[in-house]
Amino acid sequence: MKSIDLRSDTVTLPSPAMREAVYKAELGDDVFAEDPTVNRLEQMAAERMGKEAALLVVSGTMGNVTCVLTHCRRGDEVILGDRSHTFLYEAGGVSALGGVHPHTIANQPDGTILPDEIAAAIRPDNVHFPRTRLICLENTHNRCAGSPLSVEYTNAVAALAKKRGLLLHLDGARIFNAAIALGVDAKELARGADSVTFCLSKGLAAPVGSLVCGSAEFIAEARRTRKVLGGGMRQAGIIAAAGIIALEQMVDRLAEDHENAKRLAKGIANIDGLSINVENVRTDIVYFEVAGDRLTAQQLTVELAKKGVKILNIGPGRLRAVTHYGITADDIDIAIKAIREAAA
Ligand SMILES: *Cc1c(COP(=O)(O)O)cnc(C)c1O
Repeated sequence: MKSIDLRSDTVTLPSPAMREAVYKAELGDDVFAEDPTVNRLEQMAAERMGKEAALLVVSGTMGNVTCVLTHCRRGDEVILGDRSHTFLYEAGGVSALGGVHPHTIANQPDGTILPDEIAAAIRPDNVHFPRTRLICLENTHNRCAGSPLSVEYTNAVAALAKKRGLLLHLDGARIFNAAIALGVDAKELARGADSVTFCLSKGLAAPVGSLVCGSAEFIAEARRTRKVLGGGMRQAGIIAAAGIIALEQMVDRLAEDHENAKRLAKGIANIDGLSINVENVRTDIVYFEVAGDRLTAQQLTVELAKKGVKILNIGPGRLRAVTHYGITADDIDIAIKAIREAAA
């Protein structure tokens, strides 16, 4: 029985071309900036995001905390969504490591935070208040249905940040999914951001790594922050080599993951006892709910696992499935059948 693992796009294994590239990678000591493969990946990443420079980090979490710590001093405040990855799932790193105060405002179902609410959250200059320094956005928005944020929305928040003397960080862990879904260049989505991170290890299927992109000056400082965090890596070309293949070969195929996610969502919509908003599924992430009290999300995941289909139970009545490299349309049909049987 083949296992169909839909828990996350992080479970992807490297492509044969990536393994080949890792084997052949030219290496050096990246802390001395002498790894040619890392240098090449960083140059490619900067170019893809329309920024001057980039920095390879271990993970998306390290990328976000590196950016926040580089932009902010202790006691500064960051405005971010209450369902953002940085607030929910990064072990409180911005406060634990940076002494940065998170000021959350409600994420809308489409992953945005409203410009009016951001404006209202910005602190006036007063000794009682922390200094508002940074706004963070997330594209696509993981917890909000994997929704892509539009160029217009991102530019509106960037204009607000600029007008109020704040900086903008974009957690673009899945920015290429957003770009593909919207039919725009990723550069356009990153244009207004002072820093942007994206992950190699999700839909792009590389084994490890994320990139931080920004101005040359910002990246020079971020390099120091990465060192503080213990993230200075030596022959990191082993990682970067797979990342180069990810950027060259794995971006356009994300469209296939989005089609498969839609296919899965439509299948789930036809199953009794489950509820889903098919319209919300615009990228690779599919959220759905158990309806009624006949079945729990826990029971469903356990029954599915017995049939070789893995999905994530993410809390009261709610489930998540993510499509990715290695999952075919046939696999989706098998998964739909298994979900129908498990729900019966
Ligand atoms: C996965 C993810 C991250 C963190 O990436 P890791 O590599 O798992 O640390 C950050 N932001 C978002 C939106 C993510 O989905």
